[in-house]
Amino acid sequence: MYKRQETRDKRQGEVVILGAGMAGLSTAYHLQNNYSLYEKEAEPGGMARTIDKDGYRFDYDGHLLHFRDEYAFSLISDLLDGNLAPHKRNSWIYSKGSYTRYPFQANFYGLPKDVIKECLVGLIRARLNLVNVYGKRDLNGNFDNWIRMTFGEGIAEHFMLSYNKKFWTVEPKELVCDWLDGFVPVPAIEDVVTGAISSSTKPYGYNSRFWYPVKGGISEVVDGFLQKTSNLHVNKKVVTIDQHRKEIVFEDGTIKGFKHLVSTIPLPELWKILVNIPDKVKEAFSRLRHTSIFVVNLGIKRDDVTDRHWVYYPEESIAFYRTGFPTNFSMDVAPSNRTSLYAEISYSDNKKIDKEKAIRDTVRDLKLLGIICREDEIEVCQPIDIKYGYVIYDSNRKSAVQTIKNYLQRFGIHTIGRYGSWSYMSMEDVILEGREMARCLLTS
Ligand SMILES: Cc1cc2nc3c(=O)[nH]c(=O)nc-3n(C[C@H](O)[C@H](O)[C@H](O)COP(=O)(O)OP(=O)(O)OC[C@H]3O[C@@H](n4cnc5c(N)ncnc54)[C@H](O)[C@@H]3O)c2cc1C
Repeated sequence: MYKRQETRDKRQGEVVILGAGMAGLSTAYHLQNNYSLYEKEAEPGGMARTIDKDGYRFDYDGHLLHFRDEYAFSLISDLLDGNLAPHKRNSWIYSKGSYTRYPFQANFYGLPKDVIKECLVGLIRARLNLVNVYGKRDLNGNFDNWIRMTFGEGIAEHFMLSYNKKFWTVEPKELVCDWLDGFVPVPAIEDVVTGAISSSTKPYGYNSRFWYPVKGGISEVVDGFLQKTSNLHVNKKVVTIDQHRKEIVFEDGTIKGFKHLVSTIPLPELWKILVNIPDKVKEAFSRLRHTSIFVVNLGIKRDDVTDRHWVYYPEESIAFYRTGFPTNFSMDVAPSNRTSLYAEISYSDNKKIDKEKAIRDTVRDLKLLGIICREDEIEVCQPIDIKYGYVIYDSNRKSAVQTIKNYLQRFGIHTIGRYGSWSYMSMEDVILEGREMARCLLTS
């Protein structure tokens, strides 16, 4: 039980928002007034922050803007006031000693001939075995089955299963498919054949185009929100939420009452600060699983490293699952004649990491791949450890999240955002969720 302090604020009419990441900022922006926004860190932005180091600007991890929604596009364009440039994706996969274009399932050109044959034959067999396969998802089945049914054995074995195991840190058969929506493109067979006999540049998937600020890093979007919101309190870590009393206690001892509380705090962290939770809800919290991401950001004293935006690496022998090159998103993120790059490594309870070794292995593999030359100077190394990376979509997730949300809603607590909704959400998704949250509160 927390110790009561005298600094209390019992104004219960306003909405209390916890966490000034994109979800919290968007909720505040759309409420317009009668809210207070609290953030535990010294600066807002959450996952969408940018670190300045020795002339480089490193986002927490590659953070690109993809738009499926017109409102989100116009809002962010407005917040950035012209400081936004479109890019056509130039992304690749490195496997079996060669580079092919992303997505693998539509671009075998350049792979060894026997691999191309296995992938094509597997795909044709899969399509023949299935009625009405285009875009159909076996949403009740597991991800491993879905991959084999949709793409066939060749694509499954040569890319999909190994990449996804490396990325999710668990076997694809442990995953369900309700996160797939648009994330894994399913090409038509004609396009697959074109991509097997030529280097096809046909755009696929939700991220075939992206936008990025011309000046500054992704935190420019955060700054845009800050221009149009108020009542933000930083260095205000919530240490207890007494849902029964409808009171929040901050680390500095102050207490605040609430009627409606919007929390974007990751659910496993929320579990630690709620009081007297029923066993059924505790059990639901205990079933949540996630990956963490260790990001090795490097500043290289050379400017012609690559014109690629990012590259995927399905093979376990390579330390990272993806590299990205922010100086190809914007020249403004590094001093002139320099390259900024990041390498991402997944880990979890299922797959441990030695972070010092991960940095050494990353540099070793970048050199082996010829991305960094022996004579290149690495002038900056800025590792960033992201505790909550991706939610693991196993068969427990959906019901566990529902149980938690239903319980908290009884006390006027709404959990939103990527880690409050415990789902695979982009910046656009959480911004829209914040708008919807504000709408519900304004009409309640
Ligand atoms: C590796 C990686 C790459 C990604 N790449 C992209 C991309 O390219 N494009 C894209 O659109 N999206 C990307 N995303 C997703 C994007 O980062 C998120 O959707 C979005 O930033 C989440 O915002 P949020 O507000 O929901 O959560 P967060 O950003 O996590 O915000 C939650 C906030 O709550 C605060 N908080 C936590 N505990 C407390 C407490 N006790 N008291 C007070 N405050 C607290 C935190 O400090 C934080 O500021 C990526 C995510 C990851 C992990």
